[in-house]
Amino acid sequence: MPWSYPIGRLFGSELRVHATFFLLLLWIGVSAWIEGGPGQALWNVMFVVALFGCVVAHEFGHALMARRYGIATPDITLLPIGGVARLERMPDNPIHEIWVAVAGPAVNVVIWAVLVLVIGAETRVTELETLDQAGANFIGQLAAVNLFLVLFNMVPAFPMDGGRVLRAALSLWLGAQRATSVAAGIGQAIAVAFGLMGLLSGNLILLLIAFFVFAAANAENAHMQMRMTTEGIPAREAMITSYEALRPDDGLMAMSAGLLRTTQHEFPVIDADGRLHGFVTRDAIFEAAGGGPRRRADEVMVAEIPTIGLTAPLSEVLEGLSGNTPAVAVCDEHGLFLGYITRENIGELMVLRRARS
Ligand SMILES: [Zn+2]
Repeated sequence: MPWSYPIGRLFGSELRVHATFFLLLLWIGVSAWIEGGPGQALWNVMFVVALFGCVVAHEFGHALMARRYGIATPDITLLPIGGVARLERMPDNPIHEIWVAVAGPAVNVVIWAVLVLVIGAETRVTELETLDQAGANFIGQLAAVNLFLVLFNMVPAFPMDGGRVLRAALSLWLGAQRATSVAAGIGQAIAVAFGLMGLLSGNLILLLIAFFVFAAANAENAHMQMRMTTEGIPAREAMITSYEALRPDDGLMAMSAGLLRTTQHEFPVIDADGRLHGFVTRDAIFEAAGGGPRRRADEVMVAEIPTIGLTAPLSEVLEGLSGNTPAVAVCDEHGLFLGYITRENIGELMVLRRARS
């Protein structure tokens, strides 16, 4: 996520904080200072930090449960509206998906129970109304907020936790594709309701969450529909086998000539042994032509290219293309380059298959 900064690693996941989160802390600190002086400011900032500590614990609940099913979580990002654990993928088994989804809120239940049973905090709903009063019961309010986090996250607004549980449960008899579009529809309806509530009450955070849920439901649904329509199609059907390639030591002349002579927007960089080194994009050639210091193909290329085998399914290509890569390479079992696949190709294949059926 752009504008986010790593602050450390825990259980194999990088913990990142979004720049706007610091703005939130600043805003809370300054407005509390104006209202009640430095004591109030310190109290409010400490409370928000403690609250987000609980949010991080919640996200690690998801990440550690996903790890039990062999799914890694490369990073967890803290935003002013909450935390986002970016799982490598979602479990395919609906029961596993439910466990991963409830593991987050379960952590908040545990925190609440510890605060109430061990430390003896009292939680009343009224605690939530006096949240920004210094000297109020810090532990009691933290316990109340954890209970609130559980209830809020279990709202069935896909892709929030409750919505994931709903989607997984629906997919047991509707199938994954239909279940996702139903859950996404419900999620978007709830997001609109959140948005209206946010507007009417002037609650900016709720409004942001509404936007976030609406957009995320859309994106996840589109991704799922794409995955389902590509199921059973081998990757080689979309493979580009007629192309011009560059050599690693090719200079600006060769790259520019290739760009003009062909309609390609990306050029595989292949050595004399037929091994792929990377891809040079059109933008990289423009940049080199503009007098950039690096002018050789192997200096301006994108070196990290996802590679798949000839028999891989098209869905694997989609996973590869979800990152910031110009193409996915197709190689044989000895690592020799056979061809490549771009987003544009997959789009064309989809149009052709739809026209045929
Ligand atoms: Zn969660």
